[in-house]
Amino acid sequence: MRFSGKRAVVTGGASGIGRATALRLADEGAEVWIGDIDETGGRELAADSGGRIRFQRCDVMRASDIESLIAAADDAGGVDVLFNNAGAGGSRARIDEIEPDEWDRTQSLLLRSVALGIRYAAPLMTKRGGGAIVNTASIAAFQSGAAPIAYSAAKAGVLHLTHVAAAELAQHGIRVNAVCPGFIATNIFTSSLGIEGEARDAANAGIAKMAAGAQPIQRTGTSDDIAAAVAYLASDDAGFVTGTHILVDGGMLIGPRHSW
Ligand code: NAD
Repeated sequence: MRFSGKRAVVTGGASGIGRATALRLADEGAEVWIGDIDETGGRELAADSGGRIRFQRCDVMRASDIESLIAAADDAGGVDVLFNNAGAGGSRARIDEIEPDEWDRTQSLLLRSVALGIRYAAPLMTKRGGGAIVNTASIAAFQSGAAPIAYSAAKAGVLHLTHVAAAELAQHGIRVNAVCPGFIATNIFTSSLGIEGEARDAANAGIAKMAAGAQPIQRTGTSDDIAAAVAYLASDDAGFVTGTHILVDGGMLIGPRHSW
Protein backbone atom coordinates (compact mmCIF):
# COMPACT_ATOMS: atom_id res chain seq x y z
CA MET A 1 0.00 0.00 0.00
CA ARG A 2 2.73 2.45 -0.98
CA PHE A 3 0.19 4.93 -2.35
CA SER A 4 -2.30 4.88 0.48
CA GLY A 5 -3.88 8.34 0.81
CA LYS A 6 -2.25 9.54 -2.43
CA ARG A 7 -3.72 10.71 -5.71
CA ALA A 8 -2.25 9.82 -9.08
CA VAL A 9 -2.90 10.96 -12.65
CA VAL A 10 -2.27 8.56 -15.56
CA THR A 11 -2.56 9.62 -19.20
CA GLY A 12 -3.38 6.96 -21.76
CA GLY A 13 -4.99 5.04 -18.90
CA ALA A 14 -7.68 3.28 -20.94
CA SER A 15 -5.38 0.65 -22.45
CA GLY A 16 -2.08 -1.21 -22.22
CA ILE A 17 0.67 0.21 -20.02
CA GLY A 18 -1.45 3.10 -18.69
CA ARG A 19 -4.32 0.79 -17.75
CA ALA A 20 -2.04 -1.71 -15.99
CA THR A 21 -0.33 1.12 -14.11
CA ALA A 22 -3.63 2.70 -13.05
CA LEU A 23 -4.70 -0.68 -11.65
CA ARG A 24 -1.34 -1.23 -9.95
CA LEU A 25 -1.39 2.19 -8.27
CA ALA A 26 -5.02 1.69 -7.22
CA ASP A 27 -4.17 -1.78 -5.83
CA GLU A 28 -1.46 -0.10 -3.77
CA GLY A 29 -3.92 2.40 -2.30
CA ALA A 30 -3.97 5.37 -4.69
CA GLU A 31 -6.99 7.24 -5.97
CA VAL A 32 -6.30 7.38 -9.69
CA TRP A 33 -7.50 9.80 -12.40
CA ILE A 34 -7.05 8.44 -15.88
CA GLY A 35 -7.23 10.58 -18.99
CA ASP A 36 -7.63 9.22 -22.50
CA ILE A 37 -9.30 9.86 -25.86
CA ASP A 38 -10.79 6.35 -25.65
CA GLU A 39 -13.93 7.16 -23.71
CA THR A 40 -15.37 3.64 -23.88
CA GLY A 41 -12.25 1.97 -22.48
CA GLY A 42 -11.71 4.71 -19.90
CA ARG A 43 -15.28 4.62 -18.61
CA GLU A 44 -15.28 0.81 -18.48
CA LEU A 45 -12.12 0.73 -16.39
CA ALA A 46 -13.49 3.37 -14.03
CA ALA A 47 -16.82 1.55 -13.69
CA ASP A 48 -15.09 -1.76 -12.88
CA SER A 49 -12.74 -0.21 -10.32
CA GLY A 50 -15.15 0.19 -7.43
CA GLY A 51 -14.59 3.95 -7.28
CA ARG A 52 -10.79 3.73 -7.08
CA ILE A 53 -10.26 4.96 -10.66
CA ARG A 54 -11.97 7.98 -12.27
CA PHE A 55 -12.02 8.78 -15.95
CA GLN A 56 -11.87 12.16 -17.62
CA ARG A 57 -11.63 12.60 -21.37
CA CYS A 58 -8.24 14.08 -22.17
CA ASP A 59 -6.56 14.55 -25.51
CA VAL A 60 -2.91 15.11 -24.62
CA MET A 61 -2.49 17.10 -27.83
CA ARG A 62 -4.65 19.79 -26.17
CA ALA A 63 -2.96 21.75 -23.39
CA SER A 64 -6.26 22.66 -21.73
CA ASP A 65 -7.27 18.97 -21.49
CA ILE A 66 -4.04 18.08 -19.68
CA GLU A 67 -4.36 21.03 -17.34
CA SER A 68 -7.94 20.18 -16.48
CA LEU A 69 -7.20 16.47 -15.85
CA ILE A 70 -4.42 17.31 -13.41
CA ALA A 71 -6.60 19.99 -11.77
CA ALA A 72 -9.37 17.42 -11.22
CA ALA A 73 -7.06 15.22 -9.15
CA ASP A 74 -5.63 18.22 -7.37
CA ASP A 75 -9.09 19.52 -6.45
CA ALA A 76 -9.77 16.21 -4.70
CA GLY A 77 -6.94 16.83 -2.22
CA GLY A 78 -3.71 17.32 -4.14
CA VAL A 79 -1.87 15.44 -6.85
CA ASP A 80 1.07 13.29 -5.70
CA VAL A 81 1.93 11.26 -8.79
CA LEU A 82 1.78 11.97 -12.52
CA PHE A 83 2.42 9.28 -15.15
CA ASN A 84 2.82 10.96 -18.58
CA ASN A 85 2.20 7.93 -20.73
CA ALA A 86 -0.39 8.44 -23.50
CA GLY A 87 0.90 7.73 -26.96
CA ALA A 88 0.59 5.98 -30.28
CA GLY A 89 2.92 5.03 -33.10
CA GLY A 90 3.01 8.46 -34.77
CA SER A 91 4.24 9.09 -38.29
CA ARG A 92 5.91 6.15 -40.04
CA ALA A 93 7.56 8.38 -42.66
CA ARG A 94 11.30 8.38 -43.28
CA ILE A 95 13.31 11.55 -42.67
CA ASP A 96 13.64 12.18 -46.41
CA GLU A 97 9.87 12.15 -46.96
CA ILE A 98 8.18 13.33 -43.75
CA GLU A 99 5.90 16.40 -44.02
CA PRO A 100 6.32 19.23 -41.49
CA ASP A 101 2.79 18.75 -40.11
CA GLU A 102 3.32 15.01 -39.63
CA TRP A 103 6.51 15.72 -37.70
CA ASP A 104 4.71 18.28 -35.53
CA ARG A 105 1.78 15.96 -34.79
CA THR A 106 4.07 13.17 -33.57
CA GLN A 107 6.09 15.54 -31.40
CA SER A 108 2.90 17.06 -30.02
CA LEU A 109 1.51 13.65 -29.08
CA LEU A 110 4.66 12.16 -27.60
CA LEU A 111 6.93 14.99 -26.43
CA ARG A 112 4.98 18.25 -26.00
CA SER A 113 2.33 16.33 -24.06
CA VAL A 114 4.93 15.20 -21.52
CA ALA A 115 6.38 18.71 -21.19
CA LEU A 116 2.89 20.13 -20.62
CA GLY A 117 2.03 17.44 -18.06
CA ILE A 118 5.09 18.46 -16.06
CA ARG A 119 4.28 22.13 -16.69
CA TYR A 120 0.84 21.87 -15.11
CA ALA A 121 1.62 19.38 -12.32
CA ALA A 122 4.82 20.96 -11.01
CA PRO A 123 3.32 24.16 -9.50
CA LEU A 124 0.61 22.11 -7.75
CA MET A 125 3.13 19.56 -6.43
CA THR A 126 5.42 22.40 -5.31
CA LYS A 127 2.60 23.81 -3.16
CA ARG A 128 2.25 20.38 -1.48
CA GLY A 129 5.99 20.08 -0.85
CA GLY A 130 6.72 17.58 -3.62
CA GLY A 131 5.61 14.72 -5.81
CA ALA A 132 6.75 12.12 -8.30
CA ILE A 133 6.51 12.28 -12.09
CA VAL A 134 7.20 9.32 -14.37
CA ASN A 135 7.34 9.65 -18.17
CA THR A 136 7.05 6.86 -20.72
CA ALA A 137 10.04 6.95 -23.06
CA SER A 138 11.03 3.83 -25.03
CA ILE A 139 13.86 1.58 -26.07
CA ALA A 140 13.52 3.61 -29.30
CA ALA A 141 15.21 6.52 -27.49
CA PHE A 142 18.43 4.50 -27.75
CA GLN A 143 18.07 2.10 -30.66
CA SER A 144 17.71 3.46 -34.20
CA GLY A 145 15.92 0.45 -35.66
CA ALA A 146 13.25 0.05 -32.99
CA ALA A 147 10.71 2.56 -34.38
CA PRO A 148 10.29 5.23 -37.09
CA ILE A 149 12.32 8.42 -36.77
CA ALA A 150 9.65 10.88 -35.57
CA TYR A 151 8.69 8.50 -32.75
CA SER A 152 12.31 7.71 -31.83
CA ALA A 153 13.33 11.38 -31.75
CA ALA A 154 10.32 12.25 -29.59
CA LYS A 155 11.15 9.47 -27.11
CA ALA A 156 14.80 10.57 -26.94
CA GLY A 157 13.40 14.04 -26.23
CA VAL A 158 11.29 12.61 -23.41
CA LEU A 159 14.44 11.19 -21.82
CA HIS A 160 16.36 14.45 -21.86
CA LEU A 161 13.27 16.42 -20.82
CA THR A 162 13.14 14.03 -17.85
CA HIS A 163 16.76 14.80 -16.93
CA VAL A 164 16.44 18.57 -17.17
CA ALA A 165 13.06 18.75 -15.44
CA ALA A 166 14.46 16.59 -12.61
CA ALA A 167 17.34 19.01 -12.14
CA GLU A 168 15.00 22.03 -12.16
CA LEU A 169 12.37 20.57 -9.85
CA ALA A 170 14.46 18.75 -7.21
CA GLN A 171 14.51 21.97 -5.15
CA HIS A 172 10.72 21.67 -4.82
CA GLY A 173 10.79 18.03 -3.71
CA ILE A 174 9.63 16.77 -7.10
CA ARG A 175 11.32 13.71 -8.60
CA VAL A 176 11.14 13.10 -12.37
CA ASN A 177 12.09 9.77 -13.94
CA ALA A 178 11.33 7.77 -17.07
CA VAL A 179 10.52 4.19 -17.91
CA CYS A 180 11.77 2.77 -21.20
CA PRO A 181 9.68 -0.20 -22.33
CA GLY A 182 11.03 -2.67 -24.86
CA PHE A 183 8.44 -4.55 -26.93
CA ILE A 184 5.31 -4.91 -24.82
CA ALA A 185 2.18 -6.74 -25.96
CA THR A 186 -0.35 -3.89 -26.24
CA ASN A 187 -2.63 -2.43 -28.89
CA ILE A 188 -0.04 0.15 -29.93
CA PHE A 189 1.25 -1.92 -32.85
CA THR A 190 -2.21 -2.48 -34.26
CA SER A 191 -4.08 0.71 -33.38
CA SER A 192 -3.73 2.10 -36.90
CA LEU A 193 -4.63 -1.13 -38.73
CA GLY A 194 -8.41 -0.96 -38.30
CA ILE A 195 -8.70 -4.49 -36.87
CA GLU A 196 -10.57 -5.42 -33.71
CA GLY A 197 -11.38 -8.38 -31.46
CA GLU A 198 -9.68 -11.74 -31.94
CA ALA A 199 -7.85 -10.65 -35.11
CA ARG A 200 -6.34 -7.78 -33.21
CA ASP A 201 -5.37 -9.95 -30.21
CA ALA A 202 -3.70 -12.43 -32.59
CA ALA A 203 -1.76 -9.66 -34.35
CA ASN A 204 -0.62 -8.15 -31.01
CA ALA A 205 0.50 -11.57 -29.77
CA GLY A 206 2.35 -12.29 -33.03
CA ILE A 207 4.32 -9.04 -32.86
CA ALA A 208 5.22 -9.51 -29.19
CA LYS A 209 6.29 -13.12 -29.86
CA MET A 210 8.54 -11.99 -32.68
CA ALA A 211 10.15 -9.45 -30.35
CA ALA A 212 10.58 -12.07 -27.63
CA GLY A 213 12.76 -14.09 -29.99
CA ALA A 214 15.23 -11.20 -30.16
CA GLN A 215 15.55 -10.70 -26.38
CA PRO A 216 17.79 -12.50 -23.87
CA ILE A 217 14.67 -13.02 -21.71
CA GLN A 218 12.62 -14.88 -24.28
CA ARG A 219 9.12 -14.20 -23.09
CA THR A 220 6.62 -11.59 -24.09
CA GLY A 221 6.88 -8.34 -22.15
CA THR A 222 3.61 -7.32 -20.49
CA SER A 223 2.05 -4.07 -19.37
CA ASP A 224 2.32 -5.36 -15.78
CA ASP A 225 6.12 -5.52 -16.20
CA ILE A 226 6.10 -1.80 -16.94
CA ALA A 227 3.54 -0.96 -14.24
CA ALA A 228 5.82 -2.51 -11.61
CA ALA A 229 8.72 -0.25 -12.63
CA VAL A 230 6.49 2.84 -12.73
CA ALA A 231 5.09 2.03 -9.28
CA TYR A 232 8.64 1.79 -7.92
CA LEU A 233 9.72 5.11 -9.47
CA ALA A 234 6.55 6.84 -8.26
CA SER A 235 6.86 5.48 -4.71
CA ASP A 236 8.89 6.59 -1.71
CA ASP A 237 11.08 3.50 -2.29
CA ALA A 238 12.67 5.63 -5.02
CA GLY A 239 13.00 8.68 -2.76
CA PHE A 240 16.67 9.21 -3.74
CA VAL A 241 16.13 8.47 -7.44
CA THR A 242 15.62 11.30 -9.91
CA GLY A 243 16.60 12.27 -13.44
CA THR A 244 17.10 8.72 -14.61
CA HIS A 245 15.29 5.88 -16.35
CA ILE A 246 14.61 2.18 -16.00
CA LEU A 247 14.83 0.02 -19.10
CA VAL A 248 12.25 -2.76 -18.98
CA ASP A 249 13.04 -4.59 -22.20
CA GLY A 250 13.88 -8.22 -21.42
CA GLY A 251 17.51 -7.31 -22.11
CA MET A 252 16.86 -6.35 -25.74
CA LEU A 253 19.17 -3.35 -25.68
CA ILE A 254 22.17 -5.42 -24.60
CA GLY A 255 21.68 -7.63 -27.64
CA PRO A 256 20.49 -11.14 -28.46
CA ARG A 257 20.70 -14.11 -26.11
CA HIS A 258 24.05 -15.89 -26.31
CA SER A 259 23.87 -19.60 -26.89
CA TRP A 260 27.34 -20.76 -25.79
P1 NAD B 1 -1.91 1.34 -26.07
O1 NAD B 1 -2.36 1.67 -27.44
O2 NAD B 1 -2.38 0.08 -25.44
O3 NAD B 1 -2.26 2.54 -25.06
C1 NAD B 1 -2.08 3.89 -25.42
C2 NAD B 1 -3.24 4.69 -24.86
O4 NAD B 1 -3.00 6.07 -25.16
C3 NAD B 1 -4.57 4.32 -25.49
O5 NAD B 1 -5.56 4.13 -24.51
C4 NAD B 1 -4.88 5.50 -26.40
O6 NAD B 1 -6.27 5.73 -26.57
C5 NAD B 1 -4.22 6.62 -25.62
N1 NAD B 1 -3.97 7.78 -26.48
C6 NAD B 1 -3.51 7.82 -27.75
N2 NAD B 1 -3.49 9.09 -28.21
C7 NAD B 1 -3.93 9.86 -27.18
C8 NAD B 1 -4.15 11.24 -27.03
N3 NAD B 1 -3.93 12.11 -28.02
N4 NAD B 1 -4.59 11.70 -25.84
C9 NAD B 1 -4.86 10.85 -24.83
N5 NAD B 1 -4.70 9.52 -24.91
C10 NAD B 1 -4.24 9.04 -26.08
O7 NAD B 1 -0.32 1.39 -26.12
P2 NAD B 1 0.80 1.26 -24.98
O8 NAD B 1 1.81 0.35 -25.54
O9 NAD B 1 0.22 0.98 -23.66
O10 NAD B 1 1.42 2.73 -25.03
C11 NAD B 1 1.63 3.51 -23.86
C12 NAD B 1 2.94 4.27 -23.97
O11 NAD B 1 4.00 3.32 -24.01
C13 NAD B 1 3.09 5.12 -25.24
O12 NAD B 1 3.68 6.36 -24.89
C14 NAD B 1 4.05 4.32 -26.09
O13 NAD B 1 4.77 5.13 -26.98
C15 NAD B 1 4.91 3.69 -25.01
N6 NAD B 1 5.69 2.51 -25.42
C16 NAD B 1 5.07 1.34 -25.73
C17 NAD B 1 5.83 0.24 -26.11
C18 NAD B 1 5.22 -1.08 -26.48
O14 NAD B 1 5.95 -1.96 -26.95
N7 NAD B 1 3.93 -1.28 -26.28
C19 NAD B 1 7.23 0.34 -26.13
C20 NAD B 1 7.82 1.55 -25.79
C21 NAD B 1 7.04 2.63 -25.42
